[in-house]
Amino acid sequence: MSKFLHTKYDSLTPYDTSGEVESMKGYIRLNTNESPFPPSPKVMSAVLEASRGLNYYCDPECSQLAAKIAEMFSLKPSQIVFGNGSDEILNFLFMAFCEKGAAFPNITYSFYKILAKFHGVDYIPVPLKNFRVDPSYYKNVKGRTIFLANPNAPTSLAMPLSEIEEILTSNPESLVVVDEAYVDFGADSAVTLLPKYGNLVITRTFSKSRSLAGARLGWCMTSEETAADMRNIKNTLTPYNINAMTQAAGLASLDDEEYTRKNIDMIRMIRGNTKSRLQEMEFEVLDSSTNFLFAKHETISGEEIFSSLKKYRIMIRHFSNPPAISDYNRITVGTPEQMQIFLEIMRGITKNAKQ
Ligand code: PMP
Repeated sequence: MSKFLHTKYDSLTPYDTSGEVESMKGYIRLNTNESPFPPSPKVMSAVLEASRGLNYYCDPECSQLAAKIAEMFSLKPSQIVFGNGSDEILNFLFMAFCEKGAAFPNITYSFYKILAKFHGVDYIPVPLKNFRVDPSYYKNVKGRTIFLANPNAPTSLAMPLSEIEEILTSNPESLVVVDEAYVDFGADSAVTLLPKYGNLVITRTFSKSRSLAGARLGWCMTSEETAADMRNIKNTLTPYNINAMTQAAGLASLDDEEYTRKNIDMIRMIRGNTKSRLQEMEFEVLDSSTNFLFAKHETISGEEIFSSLKKYRIMIRHFSNPPAISDYNRITVGTPEQMQIFLEIMRGITKNAKQ
């Protein structure tokens, strides 16, 4: 630490990106929930075209993207705000709307806790029940902002809209953020609840089903009033947060729904197949609505599976904390070829353990 650093930043706990870095070195990367498929060819030509105008600043309002998404979800463009990945949207939400604190599941996307700590937000980790969000545990949050990933990560489980509605109704004084990063892989979107609930915010990303993790594009949908607050924060800190090439990539992706749909169907098919093969090897696999599987072996520890696969240059995600999930691993659904290699090696690991 340099002597120049503000003391308020002397004990930060940044997001752990070491897995991503290792994955770059020729490993099969099943650890970061990206799409294994490249973006649509239409995205690539749109990015090239947009690069011709890089001498100008980009549109701070992402007007074309906002118009397109508004049309898709029957909203007004003024209800939509874009972020440099949905992580930036989450950052704005923790910054702007958590004066009374936050509440989120004790097992969920680790970034919530990191952001709460960074912004000095007092948060309650709410227990899950059999790995599922139980709406009755969110009855006494006293105006705290509630963050729910649906489907949840790393558990891969989705909650029904009726339960989200129960949380919205029992907490009219709380903003309820539903993080739908993985919703396209099999959960119902809460977007249909937006006209009814002024306390709902939905966050979305182009990083997963749309194969654009590296472009960094996410957005939120909420009431016009809350969106105006978000826009104010964004325009104060990073008015040009979405560069012109990313805006073009996002638009071209939305113009090629068929490509996205095909990839989602493929991932769901590979997910089902991988789950069955893992079950044959005595894994317990949760019922995934995402592009990853959350799995635990009957006898081999989560840590051992993770390190054995790493020796074969396959990365999956292991969580040593909290202890309740330390025997589980999160496995991103890759291409059929990647999963075949993964399953073959996994078969060897489980056989060896039996001998
Ligand atoms: N929410 C959840 C639940 C996630 O798993 C992730 C990705 N790690 C994000 C949000 C952030 O995604 P991005 O910033 O790429 O949009």
